[in-house]
Amino acid sequence: MTASSNTDFLLAIENLSVSFDGFKAVNDVTAYVDYNELRVVIGPNGAGKTTLLDLICGKTAASDGSIRFKNREITRLPEHRIVREGIGRKFQTPSIYENLSVYENLEVSYPAARGVFGALFFHVDETIDARIREIAESIFLGDCLDLEAGLLSHGQKQWLEIGMLLIQDPELLMLDEPVAGMSVKEREQTAELLKRICRDRAVIVIEHDMEFVERIANRVTVLHQGQVLAEGPMSEIKSNEKVIEVYLGH
Ligand code: ADP
Ligand code: MG
Repeated sequence: MTASSNTDFLLAIENLSVSFDGFKAVNDVTAYVDYNELRVVIGPNGAGKTTLLDLICGKTAASDGSIRFKNREITRLPEHRIVREGIGRKFQTPSIYENLSVYENLEVSYPAARGVFGALFFHVDETIDARIREIAESIFLGDCLDLEAGLLSHGQKQWLEIGMLLIQDPELLMLDEPVAGMSVKEREQTAELLKRICRDRAVIVIEHDMEFVERIANRVTVLHQGQVLAEGPMSEIKSNEKVIEVYLGH
């Protein structure tokens, strides 16, 4: 494969494929994500959406193609290195520490060196404390800091997990169906949260709720059978015949 030239994109995915026993779950996908963009990925079940995120975060190894993040090749990096490069990933089911408080969940998610420097410099502790409170406020949990996380509603748990990623200050945040199971009110708040988040980072969201997609997306990528069926602003995607046929019409 020829080496690609540098791009101005935050994330450049080119000719990306992965096969599972000969079945191409992601098949020759090319997509570019801008800085501060909120990209939504839609498509029928089994289209390869989750697998695409698995490839970007290094959970699954690509069979072919390349993924570059800020012009750095990350395709073959192990998962923990990709996190360090600045990519955070939220899975479908929230993975929080149910028996720790909201505050403690955020605290343990604060990036490395906390133990060492926290013990040496008191002001670092203050900085961390301020950061935890600021994040908690932004995820609508400012009044629940001492509450055991297991007692939160399903939607609040989703927010907490987003907060646990935000505290690591990723430049790209990826969320797999974040509003599934949320109430109407919680969906509205999540839309507001995601718009705020992408003021200083990019976000990729997989979502099925079209009303929600319309509210948040800059651009939408439609996957179908592992391939990009269409890409563009929601206004165009909505009236795309191919998209209506395989997905929106159902
Ligand atoms: P989506 O998230 O769009 O619903 P997925 O990315 O989860 O779709 O799955 C795409 C296809 O790849 C599905 O047919 C799924 O069964 C298959 N697949 C995903 N992961 C694996 C795996 N680790 N091994 C075998 N097949 C897989
Ligand atoms: Mg999925």
